[in-house]
Amino acid sequence: MSTSHKLFELAKNVIPGGVNSPVRACLSVGVDPLFIDSAQGAHLTTVDGEKLLDFVMSWGPMLLGYSHPEVQAAAAAAAAKGSSFGAPCAQEVEMADAVVRTVPSIEMVRMVSSGTEATMSALRLARGYTGRSKVLKFVGNYHGHSDSFLASAGSGLATLSIPGTPGVPEETVAHTLLAPYNDIDAVRDVFAKHGDEIAAVIVEPCAGNMGLVLPAEGFLQGLRDVTTEYGALLIFDEVITGYRASLGGAQGRFGITPDLTTLGKIIGGGYPVGAYGGKREIMERIAPCGDVYQAGTLSGNPVAMAAGLATVQLLEQADYATLEARTAALVQDVKAIFAEKSIPVQVNTVASLFTVFFAEEPVVDFESAQKADGERYASFYRQMRQSGINLAPSGYECSFTSFAHTEADYDAFLSAVRKVQF
Ligand SMILES: *Cc1c(COP(=O)(O)O)cnc(C)c1O
Repeated sequence: MSTSHKLFELAKNVIPGGVNSPVRACLSVGVDPLFIDSAQGAHLTTVDGEKLLDFVMSWGPMLLGYSHPEVQAAAAAAAAKGSSFGAPCAQEVEMADAVVRTVPSIEMVRMVSSGTEATMSALRLARGYTGRSKVLKFVGNYHGHSDSFLASAGSGLATLSIPGTPGVPEETVAHTLLAPYNDIDAVRDVFAKHGDEIAAVIVEPCAGNMGLVLPAEGFLQGLRDVTTEYGALLIFDEVITGYRASLGGAQGRFGITPDLTTLGKIIGGGYPVGAYGGKREIMERIAPCGDVYQAGTLSGNPVAMAAGLATVQLLEQADYATLEARTAALVQDVKAIFAEKSIPVQVNTVASLFTVFFAEEPVVDFESAQKADGERYASFYRQMRQSGINLAPSGYECSFTSFAHTEADYDAFLSAVRKVQF
C-alpha cells in the first residue's frame, strides 16, 4: 500500500473527507489525492517519491515556481528573527508600499491572512462606506467561503453540486443579488430594481472558478459605468488575477479602475496572505482610522510579508510577455492535438492561465461552462496523471503555468496530451 494511500486512510478518520479544502479530495475525477512531500520549480514529489510536472501551482500562488531560492531565503531570514510579534514590523510596510506601487487602483492596503478574509472585509467596508446592504455577484464567480458569497459560487461548490450550502441563513444571502457573468443587460436590470440598495458589485475580472472565463468586450467598463451611476462600489476580486493577468493584475491589463481590490494567492509567496485595498478615502474608513472594524492576530505576519515582498519584487522584473506567449503557444498546440483527434474542446486562456473545456460551444459564463463534459475531463485528468502531469482535479478550475516551467516541461505536457484517448 502506498504511503499516500495510508495517509489518506488515516486522514479520513481525523479530518473531514481527509482534506482541509474540498476540491483536493479529487472526488470529481474519481481518484484519491496524492500527498506531497516537496516541490521544486514546476515539479512536485509525492510522499511515495513519485515526480509530477505540475500545472496547478498551489492553485496559483507559485507564479515564480516552487521553492524559489530568493523567496525561501527571505522567509527563512524573517523566521530566524521571530515568527510573529502581533505588533507592527518593517516587512508589512514595505509590502504595503510594493502593493501600492504595483496595483494601479490601490492607494492604501490592509493585509489579512486569506482571500476569503480579503473579500469578506472588502464587502464589509463597501457596506460601511455606502450605508447600503446588498451585493451583486456573478453566477459561477467564487469569492471565498464567507456567508454572503455562497450563493451560486463556482469551483468546489459547482462540482459538489451544493446549491449554496447549509449553514448560511437565508437572511444573509437575501442581500446577495445574482447576475450571469458577461451579461451587462442583466446587471442593469438588477440596478434598475435595487440600485439604491446595492453597496457593491464584486466580480472576478477574469473568472477563474468556473474554469477560466474571460470578460466580454465592454463588460468590465459596463460594470464601472453602472456602479458609478448608482453610487455603488466596484470590487475587483483579483485573488487569482492579481500579479498574474499582468503585474498590475486584470485592472492593469484591461485599464479599468475598481474602487476596491482583493488580493491573495500570489502575494503571499506561498504563505497565507490576503489583502484588500483601494481608494484612500474609502480605505480610511477602516479602524482604527475609521469606524469599520476589521482585525487579525496574524495579519502582516513578518515571515509571510517577507516571502510576499520578495515575490512581488521578483515579479516586478519578470518577463510576463514571454510567459504569456509561451502559454498561448501551448494552448494552440493543445487545440491542434484535439482537433486532429476530432475531440471538441474550447481552451480559454489569458496570461499564464488556461482551461481545457470539453465543450462544443464557446464558454462565456457558468451556463456554458456547465455544458462541458465532466466525465471527459475526469478521464483527461487521470490519463495526464498517469503520464506524470498534475492538473486541477476539477473541470471548473484553471490550469496555471509559471516562470519555472521550461520548454521541456511544455513538451512533456504536449506529449501527454497526444496520448490521451476517450
Ligand atoms: C481562491 C480565491 C478566493 C479565496 O481565497 P482563499 O485564500 O482560498 O480564502 C477568493 N476569490 C477568488 C477569485 C479566488 O480564486
